[in-house]
Amino acid sequence: MIHRRSLKRIPQGIGMTSQGTRDRLVRRLRDNGIKNEKILKAIATTPRHEFVDEALSSRAYEDTALPIGQSQTISQPWVVARMTEAVLECGKLDKVLEVGTGSGYQAAILAALVPKVFTVERIEELLKQARRRFHKLGLHNIYMRYADGHLGWPSQAPFDGIVITAAATEIHQELLEQLRPGGIMVAPVERHGMQRLLAIRRTEDGYEEKDLGGVIFVPMLSGLS
Ligand code: SAH
Repeated sequence: MIHRRSLKRIPQGIGMTSQGTRDRLVRRLRDNGIKNEKILKAIATTPRHEFVDEALSSRAYEDTALPIGQSQTISQPWVVARMTEAVLECGKLDKVLEVGTGSGYQAAILAALVPKVFTVERIEELLKQARRRFHKLGLHNIYMRYADGHLGWPSQAPFDGIVITAAATEIHQELLEQLRPGGIMVAPVERHGMQRLLAIRRTEDGYEEKDLGGVIFVPMLSGLS
């Protein structure tokens, strides 16, 4: 007969999706410069393996992007943390917009930190899967829209922060105008054949840009799929 205690210990101790595995990811992010403890806690408590196909769940706590179908990827945890950190720098946040829901993981991290998260996706199948995940995890402060995110979500604007998770050659003015003054947009932008992660703050009379370094994102596409 197997002792009940040993049965209980196996999934908690050595499971590839266990708390220990998540904590290792958090240590790695901290070692790589992520300082905001609230973000680290959100990453420690959000089950990233629920956002990828079961076949990939053993790799869910590696600091790497992974395929999510439809030629798209779930972003690397360090990139999610860095983008979240940059957007939180605008101070008090009530509403954040994400363009590119994908797996829903970035939205779930934001939902742990911000009262209302609005997220837009152009691939219906991905949006459906993300909706099921939010429901399963009891994340009720994420509002979803099936649309081309180039135009943002005008009826919900202005936003305190905007996170773009697909790379474009330029940021559409419609999106920038949906930021409140003092609000920050974080976006991968293609320049000279390379992608740079930009943090753009809206000021009273314009925009200030900060380059946060090189990144690799899937391209921002037009229309619906
Ligand atoms: N934030 C996601 C990353 C997904 S990858 C995550 O945490 O998993 C980028 C996503 O942006 C893809 O799902 C892609 O379909 C979506 N995307 C690309 N162009 C878009 C557009 N114009 N409007 C909305 N979503 C877009």
